[in-house]
Amino acid sequence: MRYISTRGGLTPSSFESILLGGLAPDGGLVVPESYPRCDASLIESWRHLSYAELAFEILRLYVTDWPESSLRALIDKSYTLMAFGSREVTPLTRLDEQRYLLRLSNGPTLAFKDIAMQLLGNLFEYVLLKRGEHLNILGATSGDTGSAAEYAMRGKRGVRVFMLSPHGKMSAFQTAQMFSLLDQNIFNIALDGVFDDAQDLVKAVSADLAFKDRYAIGTVNSINWARVLAQVVYYFKGYFAATTSAMADREGGSAKPPEVSFCVPSGNFGNILAGHIARQMGLPIRRLVLATNENNVLDEFFRTGRYRPRLSNETRQTSSPSMDISKASNFERYMFDLLDRNPDETRRLWTQVDEKGYFDVSSDQRWQTQLERFGMVSGSSSHGLRIETIKEVYARYNEVIDPHTADGLAVCKDYTEAGIPMICLETAQPAKFADTIVEALGIAPPVPSAFQHLQQRAQRFCRMPRDLAMLKTFIRSNAPAR
Ligand SMILES: *Cc1c(COP(=O)(O)O)cnc(C)c1O
Repeated sequence: MRYISTRGGLTPSSFESILLGGLAPDGGLVVPESYPRCDASLIESWRHLSYAELAFEILRLYVTDWPESSLRALIDKSYTLMAFGSREVTPLTRLDEQRYLLRLSNGPTLAFKDIAMQLLGNLFEYVLLKRGEHLNILGATSGDTGSAAEYAMRGKRGVRVFMLSPHGKMSAFQTAQMFSLLDQNIFNIALDGVFDDAQDLVKAVSADLAFKDRYAIGTVNSINWARVLAQVVYYFKGYFAATTSAMADREGGSAKPPEVSFCVPSGNFGNILAGHIARQMGLPIRRLVLATNENNVLDEFFRTGRYRPRLSNETRQTSSPSMDISKASNFERYMFDLLDRNPDETRRLWTQVDEKGYFDVSSDQRWQTQLERFGMVSGSSSHGLRIETIKEVYARYNEVIDPHTADGLAVCKDYTEAGIPMICLETAQPAKFADTIVEALGIAPPVPSAFQHLQQRAQRFCRMPRDLAMLKTFIRSNAPAR
């Protein structure tokens, strides 16, 4: 399997050579040359595999340049009972006749990003050791992504993490989660400023190409291909879990395989993109329901054909903060497929975004047919709907769900069809968003036992003013140069 760019400017490259990178050299995103197509009998043969075995069967189709035994060992090391709290890794809970919750948030930081990040940490360590290189990951976080990255990279050889966060602006839980990591390769920098200031400093460091190269500065943002790939696995896992009784009820094997729909609380389009890929590979997914919060850039696109990223002052702070995005950084990969993988057309659309702030494909003949072909539909939620859904799910099923998952469950109502299981992805644990849970239910969410004394633990971080020179000095004195 080789990898190309959505804008056509990357000579077909191996998995290893694209693993550590961000954007392709032409500003596009890296995608596989094609999606491996799996027929129904191959997919059925995976039904009873463990999470790690299933991950291996899927990833080996995309990671063809490493010995399979190495890939298998890296996967086995990532998807453990220790890290995810159950053998299933992503257990499925049935709510009622139709609706299910696929639990993606049982990893070390209690959000779905752990599933990809835990593997990424091991993949990065493997390739850095193999090449005798090191990498200094520099990032800015307002909470979730930073902690998932730190928990994935802690103690990994060849990797250091420098994570900027706005001082005093994260929840006490998130702060404690990150700052209580005492590993020597993790550097928490509490910046005097807001998230955008942190983001700007990261961009400024990366724009200094000489510095970036000398100090091997890298990122782990959501456009990393391996992260998307790792997420494909749980769509298969969820499908099998929801259809096992349907399969057992069938006689013979002649009928069509059962279908399911997924509903995905979305921000940067990374999670649902993995669902699209699973569907392209042949998994019988009927609908992929994309749920946004008030920041409805993506819902607007699926309803109108117009994609208009927002300015940062148009981006609202909501009670499902991990979905508060102004543009969806993975969306270009989906558009590339929608345009029959034409790099020139893809490039043209993103040039329009740069030049006039949006593109509009509603008058393109292919647009409706392609949308139908890809099975994606959308809806958006609001603070009121989140609160109502959290209440309703607690009253009816005695389950406390987090605000992001609530957005998903609120939106999927409109798309539930008789006889088709609707699997809603649970993307975080309610313990991370206690204020909203208290607002909805009047009680604090349950805190998993491993986190009960989190806020009493010792913390290690460095406070810093908004000063580029000072940040560079800090990196220089803590990271080896090439
Ligand atoms: C990151 C995140 C999302 C959004 O996922 P995308 O892949 O960016 O679409 C949703 N919910 C939670 C809790 C998250 O952390």
